[in-house]
Amino acid sequence: MPCGVVILGSTGSIGTQALDVLSRHRDDFRVVALAAGRNTELLERQRVEFGVPAAYARSCPSQPEVLAELAAHPDAQVVLNAVVGFAGLPATLSALRAGKRLALANKESLIAAGPVVAKARAAGGGEIVPVDSEHSAVWQSLRAGKMAEVRRIVLTASGGPFRGRTRDQLATVRPADALAHPTWNMGAKITIDSSTLMNKGLEVIEAHELFGVEFDAIDVVVHPQSVVHGMVEFVDGATIAQLSMPDMRLPIGLALGAPERLPEAFGAIDWTTLGRLDFEPPDRETFVALDLAYSAGRTGGTAPAVLSASNEVAVEAFLAARISWPAIAETVAEVLAQGTGNAEAVEDVLEADRVARVRAAAVVDRMSEHTRKGTRG
Ligand code: MG
Repeated sequence: MPCGVVILGSTGSIGTQALDVLSRHRDDFRVVALAAGRNTELLERQRVEFGVPAAYARSCPSQPEVLAELAAHPDAQVVLNAVVGFAGLPATLSALRAGKRLALANKESLIAAGPVVAKARAAGGGEIVPVDSEHSAVWQSLRAGKMAEVRRIVLTASGGPFRGRTRDQLATVRPADALAHPTWNMGAKITIDSSTLMNKGLEVIEAHELFGVEFDAIDVVVHPQSVVHGMVEFVDGATIAQLSMPDMRLPIGLALGAPERLPEAFGAIDWTTLGRLDFEPPDRETFVALDLAYSAGRTGGTAPAVLSASNEVAVEAFLAARISWPAIAETVAEVLAQGTGNAEAVEDVLEADRVARVRAAAVVDRMSEHTRKGTRG
């Protein structure tokens, strides 16, 4: 029997790459459901190509309940959640409660609702396999030892398009500058998050939730070539790393086929042409979002949800050229400073998310008013 797969977010960057992987393994996998946002034309092409019944190929922008329903599809063993942002949470919970293997590309759901997701995972017996390249690398490296033998996890960051620039230089960058990522070709939201290092900050929280490692034992190192994706240092001093050329189809394929590796290589390294691998500490003065995320992660409760929600609002405002690039992190810091609470149940997280978005929108309105006046004056 081929393994049944649900792809949520099938027309996005991760979704299309997942279908590319699956198209090479048609005997082993069967796509049983697809969900996309507004790109109905591509969704229909995918539906026909993979023979998905019309009832299970849904265009459902802003309909998390439909995503949750598809995530519990009875014929699915694996659910790839590649929905963008917090909207992916109900699908994450639904897949885990139904005991599926969750191939998780939607990091926001885990970050915002870590304790709630942990409960759903325990209750349903579902399993999370990370799609995020850094966490996939850590997941693979952890196989070299026991959890009790882990000294620290190291996540690598490309540094994004603005590595080496100062805060002053970044005051006037435009969305197009931030969207030009040096090594990865990804969606707009995550590309902006990479330019601020918020993406890495969110990934620190994601690593904490996935692997149960304390924040003091999670480090970030800038590695511009994006070949070493993540590392685990063990108590005896050994560091185990996973290396490959940047190609998301490798971690996607591993998450779909886990614990087996699919017999088709993506991103294999040609050592004769690789050249050098560089590492440097992140510039925490310029890229303040990184420490905002560490701080929110350590605070816990709804703080990561507030961090992630206010960031989503601020990134949208930056992409619409309403606020400056430094104002993204300023917005997040201001909303976090307005307070966070406990996150016992999913309702707490939903409410924290809602309030954080209202607060972030107010901050953005004030800042964009300021920006317009500044332009006129
Ligand atoms: Mg990543």
